[in-house]
Amino acid sequence: MTADLHTHTTASDGTMAPEELVGRAAAAGLQAVGVTDHDSLAGLAAAIAAGFAAGVEVVPGVELSCAVGRGEVHILGYYPRPTPRLRRLLEELAGSRERRAREMLDRLAALGMPLEWESLRAAGSVGRPHVAQALAGAGYVADAAEAFRRYLGRGGPAWVPRYKLTPAAAVAAVREAGGVAVLAHPGVDGAFRHLGQLVEAGLQGIEAYHPRHPPRRCAEFDRRGRELGLIITGGSDCHGPGSPEAFVLGQALAPPEAVERLQAAADDDKEGM
Ligand code: AMP
Ligand code: ZN
Ligand code: FE
Ligand code: FE
Repeated sequence: MTADLHTHTTASDGTMAPEELVGRAAAAGLQAVGVTDHDSLAGLAAAIAAGFAAGVEVVPGVELSCAVGRGEVHILGYYPRPTPRLRRLLEELAGSRERRAREMLDRLAALGMPLEWESLRAAGSVGRPHVAQALAGAGYVADAAEAFRRYLGRGGPAWVPRYKLTPAAAVAAVREAGGVAVLAHPGVDGAFRHLGQLVEAGLQGIEAYHPRHPPRRCAEFDRRGRELGLIITGGSDCHGPGSPEAFVLGQALAPPEAVERLQAAADDDKEGM
């Protein structure tokens, strides 16, 4: 099965509505597409409906942003049930994202770059990419990349650190909701070094295939994941056209058995509940 299991929509910082993303997945010949917005399930219902219409299997998911020390680790959750507890966690994360974005706007205003909250055009989970686009839209910077470089990157003058969800707590939240917890892009920000500890915390899979992993790293993550009995996944992390993240849908794919294995793992967890 040709599956891209990591994408973003307008429910977080992607530029495509869920329907558009799924339509493009069908046009690109994908058999399955995972929809994994940051800290939000808001795009899933529309994506699943569009998947039925387009004949593409939509794998529902979420990407939880976590902090470890000064670094950041992302945990993917596939087939989560929208339990009250998971919803409460996502609401907390959304609230803290909004407070953080407002603080970033305050800092930018103090730097002589006032922006209206409305100019962020965030349909769902608001993040730095929305602020970057607004800075570019107002002409304060040439493009979003410059906004990150000069203001929004770690330690930058308008950078505001995020809330502290630990990766282990994210794994627990995904599993408690009957979902399958997968370490996203282990090759980014040194996330791989936390693998052993996260497996102990209940991690079930590893995203070996990602556009930011060179081929040799993909092979290494694949081999290590199999040694640990993990599900091997992969995806493009596509954020859509016009996004500062330029990954194209289908640019990285999951191994053929990934979707079946994720489904089986999710069913197993749900039976035990
Ligand atoms: P946030 O979750 O609000 O901290 O924003 C993180 C998101 O910003 C990441 O998922 C990327 O999509 C994007 N991002 C982070 N660093 C950069 C960068 N240097 N240039 C462009 N986009 C970035
Ligand atoms: Zn993103
Ligand atoms: Fe990520
Ligand atoms: Fe992502």
